[in-house]
Amino acid sequence: MVTDSALLLQLQTDVLEAVACGEPLVVVADLLCRRAQALAPGAICSILTVDAEGILHPLAAPSLPLSYSSALEGVAIGPGVGSCGTAAFRNEAVIVTDIATDPLWDGYRALTEPLGLRACWSSPICDHVGKVVATFAFYYRTNRGPDALEHSIVQTCVHLCTIAIAHDQANQRNHRLAYFDALTGLPNRGHFNELLSRAIHMDEPFGLLLVDIDHLKLVNDTVGHVFGDMLIRTVAERIAGCHTGLTACRLGGDEFAVLVADCHSDDALKDAATRMLGAVRGLIEVGDQTIDPHITIGGALYGPDGVDEASLSQNADFALYHAKETRRGGYVRFVPGLRTSMLERATMVRNVDQAMGEGRILPHYQPIVRLDTAEVVGIEALARMRLPDGRIASAGEFHAALADPRIAWQLTGQMLTRIAADIRHWLDMGIPFQHVGINVTTGDFQRGDLESRIVDTFGRAGVPLKHLILEVNESVYMAGGDQMVPKAVSALRQRGLRVALDDFGTGFASLTHLLSFPVDIIKIDRSFVARLGIDRASDVVVGSLIDIARKLDMRLVAEGIETTAQASMLCELGCTMGQGYLFSRACSFEDTTQLLTLFAQTTDDPVLERYSA
Ligand code: GH3
Ligand code: MG
Repeated sequence: MVTDSALLLQLQTDVLEAVACGEPLVVVADLLCRRAQALAPGAICSILTVDAEGILHPLAAPSLPLSYSSALEGVAIGPGVGSCGTAAFRNEAVIVTDIATDPLWDGYRALTEPLGLRACWSSPICDHVGKVVATFAFYYRTNRGPDALEHSIVQTCVHLCTIAIAHDQANQRNHRLAYFDALTGLPNRGHFNELLSRAIHMDEPFGLLLVDIDHLKLVNDTVGHVFGDMLIRTVAERIAGCHTGLTACRLGGDEFAVLVADCHSDDALKDAATRMLGAVRGLIEVGDQTIDPHITIGGALYGPDGVDEASLSQNADFALYHAKETRRGGYVRFVPGLRTSMLERATMVRNVDQAMGEGRILPHYQPIVRLDTAEVVGIEALARMRLPDGRIASAGEFHAALADPRIAWQLTGQMLTRIAADIRHWLDMGIPFQHVGINVTTGDFQRGDLESRIVDTFGRAGVPLKHLILEVNESVYMAGGDQMVPKAVSALRQRGLRVALDDFGTGFASLTHLLSFPVDIIKIDRSFVARLGIDRASDVVVGSLIDIARKLDMRLVAEGIETTAQASMLCELGCTMGQGYLFSRACSFEDTTQLLTLFAQTTDDPVLERYSA
């Protein structure tokens, strides 16, 4: 005959095996109840869990009706909450032999009476630190307490429950660590990959938005990583909570992916992105510091922009990349052309990188002339790339690579070195050389070291800074926020450099910029020059600009002059300087040397004095 202790040992073995096999907690608890009931005829078993807030949740009660368990869901433990609620509250076993009269059951009798349950013995189940996490109960249909065998069954079951719950909690923790990001609590990259493939598998319309926080490095560098983390957390909360139907995940760093459910169209995706942009705004205040959060979003629509994980993600990434460059703080949806242009650009970046490594980036120079005498008063340096076959590529052929801030920064460094050496040559040759304009990009300002690079490079070559004009266009002026570029420009002007506002008139609010930016020279964009004499509005605009520049004591250079008619019109309007194919294209150091030797303006000329005042 099989003894009770052998049966109990078998119960223990079976339950532990179920735990070890990774059965879910509800399945293990159900098994435990059934096996305990089989060993203790007359007992009806129930297990409830207790959450961190002290709320009861039914886990298993295979012989009780669902309605009974459901009635206990969400009940808070307390000093008079039946046997289980009280046992959990007191952290000790509670034996009620007569539910009908025991005051602990005053509020709950109506639940047990219809089922004929007359007695209940509940035992708390604790975790490894002694906190009650569940209760294990035997109900009886007679007024009685437990016998000796039931005592040992319950003792074993409570112990097994402790193990099963601890195992489940460890599983949950591991799941959290494997699937969720610790900083924000959002699903992590691995989890996102699963969600994305699930969404694709369902084959229902959805959109993918990739979100990147703007200028997080700056926040880390200026106010510290703690604030950087705070920014990431707050942005995560704001994007996750901005709209129903969104699943936000943190892919890593400051990048998030958001799945937009039930998204059928370009407009719906745009709408979700716009809401997100709005939801993220609002100062974050931490102590006496404030951070103004901004994000940039790229989007792709399942179906038109990709039907598999790789292409959809990559296309959203292309859109984000493009948005970072062209619409920071805004949203861009993927369009097929982006893919080609990004791939072309990647090739271009590689080519420029290689050319820089092999010293094949060099300046060519386009003269700036006095319109009345055609004498050369200055030159503008333009980057050229010598191709492996010897052909010289113009900037337009590799311009897109310069959108990469690292490339732009390195290229400016190489240009500065070559320009400084060329100027030194001209000065040594006794050429009445005046100044060279050099174009700088946003990438040059971002690192905050433009001033020291210029001062060091020209210092090493022994070239005074008065020979340099920094040409900055409006979009560069506007980039960076927080007056970054105007401040750097002011510092350079104090060193004796002059600054030209390039491509003037192509940006927006150009005239406003004149009031707020410290510039010495305005370069009127070629588009105005091209329309001179053709459309009256251009004549008026150029005429007014010349007038404004004169009144603000700024010098004026017209760009892109191609015909004598344009040159004489500009002259008549009062513009004294210009550049363009009419006079000369950009040419090599050797040709420029010859040009300067023949046509450079002599130093006692009044136009020069005005230009270099
Ligand atoms: P952009 O405006 O172009 O997005 O530039 P960014 O400064 O935001 O930098 P980027 O998106 O290229 O790279 C994210 C940076 O965020 C890199 C790293 O310095 C920082 N970062 C990554 N993970 C964390 C993090 O967990 N906490 C903090 N504080 N910073 C992080
Ligand atoms: Mg960023």
